[in-house]
Amino acid sequence: MISGQQISASLWADVSPPREAAAQLQARTETDIAVIGGGFSGLSTALHLARSGHQVMLLEAMEVGFGGSGRNNGQVIPTMTAAEPDAIEDRFGEAGERFVGLIRDSASYLFDTAREENIDCEAEQTGWFQPAHRESRLALSRKRVEAWAKRGAPCRLLDRAECEEVLGSDLWHGGMYNPTGGHINPLALARGLAAACEKRGVTIHEKTPVTSMERRDGKWCLRTPNGEVTARAVMLASNAYTGHFTSALAPKIARSVVPVLSWQMATAPLTDEQRKTIVPGREAVSDTHGDLRFFRFDKRNRLVTGGALACGLNGAERLKPLVGRRLQEAFPVLGMPKFDFVWNGYIGMTEDRFPFISQLGPDFWCWAGCNGRGVGLSVSLGRELAAAIAGQPVSDLALPLSDPKPIPLHSLIKTVAPPVMLPLYRWRDGRD
Ligand SMILES: Cc1cc2nc3c(=O)[nH]c(=O)nc-3n(C[C@H](O)[C@H](O)[C@H](O)COP(=O)(O)OP(=O)(O)OC[C@H]3O[C@@H](n4cnc5c(N)ncnc54)[C@H](O)[C@@H]3O)c2cc1C
Repeated sequence: MISGQQISASLWADVSPPREAAAQLQARTETDIAVIGGGFSGLSTALHLARSGHQVMLLEAMEVGFGGSGRNNGQVIPTMTAAEPDAIEDRFGEAGERFVGLIRDSASYLFDTAREENIDCEAEQTGWFQPAHRESRLALSRKRVEAWAKRGAPCRLLDRAECEEVLGSDLWHGGMYNPTGGHINPLALARGLAAACEKRGVTIHEKTPVTSMERRDGKWCLRTPNGEVTARAVMLASNAYTGHFTSALAPKIARSVVPVLSWQMATAPLTDEQRKTIVPGREAVSDTHGDLRFFRFDKRNRLVTGGALACGLNGAERLKPLVGRRLQEAFPVLGMPKFDFVWNGYIGMTEDRFPFISQLGPDFWCWAGCNGRGVGLSVSLGRELAAAIAGQPVSDLALPLSDPKPIPLHSLIKTVAPPVMLPLYRWRDGRD
């Protein structure tokens, strides 16, 4: 499709507790609130609505966690990639301030939610570290630490020696550390959230793509291949996958995000000796490269990492030596690592790197455009969107609303973005 095909042989699919598939929708029925999409956003929205006694039906095209939520690196990061707190507040005023607060607290909120719902998702709140890959990038780390600390985030700047201690590598120069971050097994979290939803009475239908929706007699009517549901309110939580199954559902949303394949990989489990010297505190790490370097341990002491490709052809085989060399350079004790799993998934990028949260019609809500940072964010946004659907005034919520901005020549941009942007990022990465 775009820069190669999505492949699913993920570590998470191999190690997560299995989930019994929910039935396909095969009837004409009604609900109070319909949620489209079974990722963190849809599941969190459904869970929060069910907690406050609402009737909810969640429709997922494939299976729970099929999208970004079941395929990601599992890093729980309380910042956005490019939308900085000052810029968010400048753009959205008070709503922006509330949203910055939501991002600041989003990692802890995710870990708390997993604990409250008894979800076994290998959660480790060991902190998130963003090391600077060039000395000059420390200025950016310092600026970010100041901006977040001013807003109450418990983050701090680590110097080069502290950085080396955290990473077990002298390749980086210091950086921003936030103890509230960490990592999870994302598919286990998605399945656990689905179980929590079902326990509270949410009806989930899998293998049920919504193919179109229309307003009829003051309600929303959602069509699926073998059934139809009428709802007072709808949450569209299909994010980067909005145009994946049908172009008819929400074309304006689909054209406002560019789905870019992100590749994930897991090494064979490390020996105890190797593990003790590499990121000994088990933090989640993603650095300041545009062509991002990222890694974290899973429960079995595999390093879960990955990379980007301009062209996805034969991607898994091409990435193994590239990412292997990068890891070896950082951690010589690894030698050339063996990778047991390679998989990928679509990240929803927007033109201005801001997510958009929109009300698209009466009782019709959506958000999209995580730009690579949506694990913590989507769970917290689910809470706020549930409150909006339940009728709480938006002026009280952390929802900086904006219209989706369809990207001109979207089909072309989808195809050419990775081959054009990745070399540009690499070029910038090499400069001060
Ligand atoms: C490879 C990868 C690595 C990432 N790593 C990180 C990370 O380490 N940290 C971080 O913070 N973020 C990361 N992200 C981003 C993060 O995973 C996403 O922001 C987050 O999971 C989005 O959740 P969501 O529920 O909004 O969307 P998704 O999880 O994508 O869910 C959307 C769901 O909607 C369904 N759907 C689509 N269309 C329809 C339809 N018509 N009818 C019914 N269902 C439909 C899809 O099948 C899908 O299950 C990563 C993303 C990817 C792809």
